[in-house]
Amino acid sequence: MNINVDSLNSGFSKEVSFDGNITLPKSLVYHKDVYIQGKGVITNSYGKYTFEGSILANVTFNCNSCLKEFKKEIAFDMTEVFSKDIEDDDEIWLFSSKDNIIHLEEPIKTNLLLNLPMKALCSENCKGLCHICGHNLNEGDCGCDRDYIDPRFEKFLHLFNNKEV
Ligand SMILES: [Zn+2]
Ligand SMILES: [Zn+2]
Repeated sequence: MNINVDSLNSGFSKEVSFDGNITLPKSLVYHKDVYIQGKGVITNSYGKYTFEGSILANVTFNCNSCLKEFKKEIAFDMTEVFSKDIEDDDEIWLFSSKDNIIHLEEPIKTNLLLNLPMKALCSENCKGLCHICGHNLNEGDCGCDRDYIDPRFEKFLHLFNNKEV
């Protein structure tokens, strides 16, 4: 994810491709270690380097409903501008003038976080966990009577549903 732009003169572009692991901030929704594959084009325009490319991230999620781990690929496009000059522009990433290497890791992280869901489901029809015994209902039924309602709660349900229970 480090691109050497030493020989990339102004007015020229070059194709780049890369892969590697990045580490996201801790979350209950997804695992922090993510394998990234990316490809794109870097263009030098008077010392401003624009990366335009597409990223494929292999993310491990925890299902919001049954808690099971599952992997899903998240694909997104990104365009980011890099410069060595300090400019009054939040949209531009600075890179060191000591070497001619653009580090794509942070911009990729930022873009990936924007593309991650707030909640994740292992499948659209995930049945979740039995709220009585905790069994994963996607693996079959556990036999609990989940329709049983504690009589003490019945009158509250009645209030919420506004109908006879
Ligand atoms: Zn699930
Ligand atoms: Zn159960």
